[in-house]
Amino acid sequence: MGSGYEASVGMEVHVELATKTKMFCRCPTGFGGEPNTRVCPVCLGHPGTLPVPNREAVEMVVKTALALNCQVPTDSVFHRKNYFYPDLPKGYQVSQYGETNPIGYHGWLEIRPKGREPKRVKIRRVHLEEDTGKLIHTAEGGSGVDYNRAGVPLMEIVTDFPPDITDPEEAKEYLVQLRLLLLYLGVTDGKMEEGSLRCEPNISVRPLGAATYGTKTELKNLNSFKSVQLGIEYEVGRQIQALERGEAVLQETRGWNESTLISYPMRTKETESDYRYFACPDLAPMRFTAETVERVREDLPESPRARFDRYRRDLGLSDYDAGVLTSEIEWAEFFESALGQGVDPKLLCNWLTGDTARMLNESGLAIRDSQLTPSHLADLVRMIESGEINSKVAKEVLEEAFKSGAMPSETVRSQGLAQISDDGFIVEEVARVIAENPGPSEQFRSGKEQVIGFLVGQVMKATQGRANPAKVQEEMRRQLG
Ligand SMILES: [Zn+2]
Repeated sequence: MGSGYEASVGMEVHVELATKTKMFCRCPTGFGGEPNTRVCPVCLGHPGTLPVPNREAVEMVVKTALALNCQVPTDSVFHRKNYFYPDLPKGYQVSQYGETNPIGYHGWLEIRPKGREPKRVKIRRVHLEEDTGKLIHTAEGGSGVDYNRAGVPLMEIVTDFPPDITDPEEAKEYLVQLRLLLLYLGVTDGKMEEGSLRCEPNISVRPLGAATYGTKTELKNLNSFKSVQLGIEYEVGRQIQALERGEAVLQETRGWNESTLISYPMRTKETESDYRYFACPDLAPMRFTAETVERVREDLPESPRARFDRYRRDLGLSDYDAGVLTSEIEWAEFFESALGQGVDPKLLCNWLTGDTARMLNESGLAIRDSQLTPSHLADLVRMIESGEINSKVAKEVLEEAFKSGAMPSETVRSQGLAQISDDGFIVEEVARVIAENPGPSEQFRSGKEQVIGFLVGQVMKATQGRANPAKVQEEMRRQLG
């Protein structure tokens, strides 16, 4: 902070789970659409209806808890969090309360902010609840409520106190790593702009070395990684200024205005006792046997971190390459799928992060929206490996695949682009080029080594780049020697 203060940041992250149906009814989940078209008596909270928990949602939370190194209790119950607000038709939200009751508790996530030592961020709990509806304020000044989102399975992941995160950079890195892990686990689509992943950090500052923490404010409406970082930076600065002026920081929830880059007060924060939590009498306790937990643990997919380490260790990729290939789920899956077709990892990596990335960049396309599939890349790399095509031709057929979706081996066959390695042909071509270029040939013979490049280039030109350059050079040296 540089001003005699230190910040502490707790992270509360809400994740909409990627189930097909809602948490306690069979209404479909989804984003957008006409208001109140994905509702039923259960998620509208009609009297007399009974909830039936979504097993898939529970399993997703167990998976996440284990991936975050949490304990999973043998019994876990749902609670009612009571409050009155129109976004909640029942008058309570089904959630989970308590220190060791949530599906996951007391875990950690390792973060590695750029240029810093790795750090473990302790996780206090991972619990399951239901999402609320959305208030809609119309241009005419009226208000309505859309219950399409009400009852969507929502996972909450909360960091522990005292906070491990001490600045905005770390907070952002935590969120980046957490989201990536959740995408690897396949439990959410992670779209912050659609609210599938919502981050509400709580922030406090205190004089350096002070024994007690300052008063926290909670920040809402952060719709991107950038907003999370900017919002926390702003809030830290605002609190320090208040303390400098001798004012108290109020415990409150504040909103982030993305266009003015300023936070504003929304409401003073409720305390837990206001919610009058109690175990939901309509829902039986969940039981997790040791066998169930072990089975889920064994089935956990490889984490981004583990994959990064494996790429470096087993495939011999650099930190940079391993980072590029694992830090975005699409790239990670694309690479893994092409690799599974048995091609050289380093070559594959080079063609992916090189020419493929460049073409995507230039066209502004994401890899999933392009015509390229893992099979295109595997096909290409296989031909390079076997010497069937050289890298100049490889570039051309990759561009063709990008444009038309044509399989590289098809393009090579139909356009006759296969590399010429036929010895007889190469011997003839080399002899011809030497005969037609007596001057350069004589220069090479008298020791001007670099002229070989020109002579090989003549053969490549005559064969439209299809001759095997290594063979041409070898033959050239033999005939000139
Ligand atoms: Zn419903």
